[in-house]
Amino acid sequence: MLTREDLDVSIHPSFDNHEKVVMFTDQATGLRAIIAVHNTNLGSSLGGCRIYPYAEINDAVTDVLRLSKGMTYKSALAGLPLGGGKAVIIGNPREIKKPGFMQSFGEAVEQMGGSYITAEDVGSTEEDMIEISKATSYVAGLPETGSGEGVAGNPSPVTAYGVYCGLKACAREKYGEPNLSGRKIAIQGMGAVGYALAEYLAKDGAELWVADIHQDVLERAQQQFSSQVHIAPAAEIHKLDVDIFAPCALGAGLNDRTIPEIKAGIIGGAANNQLAERRHDAMLKEKGIVYAPDYAINSGGITSVGYEYFWRTARNPYQHELTRDTMMSHVSRIEETLGRVFTLADNKTIGTGEAADQLAEEIFKAGPSTQTSAA
Ligand code: NAD
Repeated sequence: MLTREDLDVSIHPSFDNHEKVVMFTDQATGLRAIIAVHNTNLGSSLGGCRIYPYAEINDAVTDVLRLSKGMTYKSALAGLPLGGGKAVIIGNPREIKKPGFMQSFGEAVEQMGGSYITAEDVGSTEEDMIEISKATSYVAGLPETGSGEGVAGNPSPVTAYGVYCGLKACAREKYGEPNLSGRKIAIQGMGAVGYALAEYLAKDGAELWVADIHQDVLERAQQQFSSQVHIAPAAEIHKLDVDIFAPCALGAGLNDRTIPEIKAGIIGGAANNQLAERRHDAMLKEKGIVYAPDYAINSGGITSVGYEYFWRTARNPYQHELTRDTMMSHVSRIEETLGRVFTLADNKTIGTGEAADQLAEEIFKAGPSTQTSAA
């Protein structure tokens, strides 16, 4: 039985003034995809394509609406002239990618007329982006071709660099100075971002505790960082008596169970949607924890993908050239942006998550003119 929400997405609880929500189906390939464009005040929306076997269509709608709105906030705060959008494809990514499948999704993206640019997300890969690019030019996250001035390629190390810069802002807020040398830091998840973050922190002389559900990455870390790194059980990593807890695995890790167990004075990491619920932002503030809102500290990846898209389509929105150096310098401004988030949170006595939302809203609601100065 169809409910009113199934028929009218504008009354969906997560709708939040989306500009466009479109469902695409293709009988020939079996494609079932939803593309959501939340806001394009600052530019075309850019956001990944998630491929997931959603049990119900409503789960897919909820996910795409929530994710595309998140991209509006992330890009605005990162100083990118991009809006927020996202796509979901319903199905098991290991089973549905028959020949022509990703290309038919590319045709759907093309039909959005440039209001949405796609990229990788959970379930989609660089190879998928190559397939999509056969049907549309509105795709980012393509491999480096050798002439990409170093702005193309894997965004994860760039995300790690942004988290590293963001942790310095957290240290300044908590201890009065940004130096991370000698700080005790627990990293949850030693994947693409967590491992690269450990490299930055180890170079700075931090003492690391790391956890992962896969033993091989931990062994590799122990070999590479020797006495600077300690292995911790995955179930205990958030409880350690350290200065900084860096969640770099899954979302919703900050919740009613874990927050009372956290001893770290700072939380900042790459994982998306770290707060299980909105109210956990205030709970962290009450505990005196300096929390770097996830989308503010992990925007290195979208910045990397954005620069790659601007470079490849020869649409440079900046006064500077699009090179690896200018991109990394852009990402390093996460430190400054987080500083502004903390100041606003202190001045208004609100959680840092709420402060980040307010700053991001101010930027994207005002439109492009205010953005470059805010970046
Ligand atoms: P990844 O899959 O490479 O790494 C995640 C790691 O976490 C894996 O090694 C996994 O084994 C480990 N893990 C899973 N469950 C765990 C648990 N319970 N305890 C400890 N470790 C666990 O992913 P990634 O690209 O490094 O991204 C990490 C997080 O950052 C994700 O939430 C992702 O959405 C987010 N993020 C990534 C980027 C990027 O550029 N890659 C950008 C923005 C946000």
